[in-house]
Amino acid sequence: MKTVLVVAEYLNDKIAPITDELIASALEISAIINKEIKYAESKTSEVKVVHVKGLNTLASEQYKSALVSIIQELNPSFILMGHTSQGIDTAFGLAARLRCNCISSVNKVIEHKKKYLFGQGSKNDDNDKSDILFFRSIFKGKLNAVIKLENPDKMTLLTVQPGSFAPKEADIDIIEITLYASAANSHQIEYENIIEPQTKKSKLDQAKIIVSAGRGIEDQENIAYIERLAACFTGSAVGGSRPLIDMGWMPYHQQVGITGAVVSPELYIAVGISGSSQHIAGMKDSKFIVSINKDPNAAVFNLSDVCIVEDAVNFIKSYVETAEE
Ligand SMILES: Cc1cc2nc3c(=O)[nH]c(=O)nc-3n(C[C@H](O)[C@H](O)[C@H](O)COP(=O)(O)OP(=O)(O)OC[C@H]3O[C@@H](n4cnc5c(N)ncnc54)[C@H](O)[C@@H]3O)c2cc1C
Repeated sequence: MKTVLVVAEYLNDKIAPITDELIASALEISAIINKEIKYAESKTSEVKVVHVKGLNTLASEQYKSALVSIIQELNPSFILMGHTSQGIDTAFGLAARLRCNCISSVNKVIEHKKKYLFGQGSKNDDNDKSDILFFRSIFKGKLNAVIKLENPDKMTLLTVQPGSFAPKEADIDIIEITLYASAANSHQIEYENIIEPQTKKSKLDQAKIIVSAGRGIEDQENIAYIERLAACFTGSAVGGSRPLIDMGWMPYHQQVGITGAVVSPELYIAVGISGSSQHIAGMKDSKFIVSINKDPNAAVFNLSDVCIVEDAVNFIKSYVETAEE
């Protein structure tokens, strides 16, 4: 029986939603790697969830110290953490301490049927013991990398991309293990407090039409055209991708994506947005998607109903000026 260990994520003492997604991905992985073992034969669950309670969630040094000992004790085949700010802060240092395999930002897992083509020169022979393949997007979502473990008997730590696995009811028992602060022995980072952002209530969740700007609008001044485009429609709101918020071009409450608002308007117009998985996770349920991008291979076009390959700034300017006339 191979164990998959999920590290539950906490935010302000509450379990973060990514934890349910990690459990869903753990169940998929377990079904693949334990397929030879019939469930009826097994009395114990192969998916375990470790809850590190009593530590502040941002102290990654303490997290790592607390987790190393419990992981070594349980000796799981896979350890799953979120590809979130907290997970990223902890996972890679943890993998280094455990000297285990590490794959980041995983968005899909499939069974390795041995016939999967890995290109010339790759090992694809009878000695290939890997029974599972991992996917992660690269080049801003334009390509998927398929990753095979060369040493599948070694422990592997994965960070899982939020929004990739739908949370689902577990049909097996989940064992919770609780650790307390005394398990940690490193205090290199002092925790003070979490400062909540000053947010205005977003109009995004009520808007029927959302016009969102990305880095492709090139200049902060061009946000005026995005606002004028949105004003052409009643019941509209303006959103943006995270870089625009990070650059201070828009307030945080206008950010669409996994770490911003998750929206599902009737119409979503993406202007100069590449279509990273983190942005897509926030708008993929929109009923109709129009995208404007000068790159014909932009990932956002993969889920768009209308794809406009144009310079976004010129296109929006002439559209707005014509519409306003
Ligand atoms: C943990 C984590 C959480 C994140 N959360 C979010 C989130 O919630 N929301 C979010 O949006 N991102 C989020 N990100 C960031 C995300 O990974 C991407 O970096 C971001 O979405 C890219 O924004 P963008 O598409 O505006 O910029 P880019 O990826 O730089 O794309 C710009 C696009 O504009 C096009 N372009 C350039 N010039 C023009 C032009 N003149 N005319 C037309 N097209 C043009 C380019 O071809 C390109 O496709 C997160 C990242 C991490 C690691």
